[in-house]
Amino acid sequence: MSTRTVGILGGGQLARMMVLAGAPMGLRFELFDPAADACGGPLAPLTVAAFDDRQALAAFAAKVDVVTFDFENVPADSAQWLADQVPVYPPPSALAVAQDRLSEKTLFQQLGIPLPPFADITSRAQLAEKVAAFGLPCILKTRRLGYDGKGQFRLRSAADIDAAWDALGAQVDKTGLILEGFVAFQREVSVVAVRGRDGSFQAYPVTGNWHVDGVLSASVAPARLSDAEQQAAIGYARTLAEHLQYVGVFALELFCRDGELLANEMAPRVHNSGHWTIEGSETSQFENHLRAVLGLPLGDTRMLGHACMLNWIGAMPDPVPVLAQSSGHWHDYGKQPRDGRKVGHATLRDDDASALASSLEQVGEALGRQVQVAPAIQALRA
Ligand code: AMP
Repeated sequence: MSTRTVGILGGGQLARMMVLAGAPMGLRFELFDPAADACGGPLAPLTVAAFDDRQALAAFAAKVDVVTFDFENVPADSAQWLADQVPVYPPPSALAVAQDRLSEKTLFQQLGIPLPPFADITSRAQLAEKVAAFGLPCILKTRRLGYDGKGQFRLRSAADIDAAWDALGAQVDKTGLILEGFVAFQREVSVVAVRGRDGSFQAYPVTGNWHVDGVLSASVAPARLSDAEQQAAIGYARTLAEHLQYVGVFALELFCRDGELLANEMAPRVHNSGHWTIEGSETSQFENHLRAVLGLPLGDTRMLGHACMLNWIGAMPDPVPVLAQSSGHWHDYGKQPRDGRKVGHATLRDDDASALASSLEQVGEALGRQVQVAPAIQALRA
């Protein structure tokens, strides 16, 4: 394979892990990010410029063989403009759908993927009307530019309508608003899957996820789902990927409620709930994404035993308790500590689910993070 250079729009931890996955394959990388301290920067050349800086994008395109993303909110017209100069995967049209919760949910509905009720909200009166139609609780979200639970307001009683409108009403003309019925789910799961340029498709085993304040805290793979549920979840992901003519890795997040799966959202990129694949799968999501965008054969998504990923938010803890475990792996993204920021993660893996639960117990106790590991332990022992 001749040396090829992959350009990544966004230079954060996802770009950083793509660079780490691509190095053994002899790939070179160019990163593009508005932040000079983007954490991929120490690993690959970084262009620091705004995502709509056409001059900088043109110079970037001239240096690369293919462009991909580590960030889904790159302006879709910048992605489309780049696609006229150099191959861009996933296709900018898929990015555009995923950037707008309303078009994303409308597409799920068209494709027969079950989901909670939703409505475009353009006024306070309409909000009140739809809250009455859906029943409480429900969630008002910005249509665009929301992530990790940001730009969301949960309505628990009719009295919250004013508060929700005060918090987000000003966004109507900027990002748009969507109201969703609240799903009293027992579990949240995600399908991380990959589609190649030739239409080949592979999915990793469905992953169970736990969020705190809207941010992923822990993931366990495989999730305890029935075979029928696994197949349904993966089937939805495949339908979506084929419809979008998708190329690369993506995640489909779903709620499980009383044996029913309801789609929440898709992320058109490698995903936090797939970080366990670095050590827990035959081929990591990062390597498979690179294979897909370069038109190479996809790698096997078979997983090795059971895996649990713990996110480190705000600041890195002591690595020793994780590294003391026989299959504990440490990832420090090299970021400055900051409240709510994803700064690293750990993955623990074991062939045996109860041995993995015991390792997690030891790590939780040593780090004073019993609350974070508890749902993962419970799932592994179920
Ligand atoms: P999102 O940014 O849409 O992924 O939302 C972040 C988190 O908020 C999700 O992972 C859920 O834990 C919760 N959430 C979002 N939408 C809903 C919903 N319609 N019903 C229940 N929980 C939700």
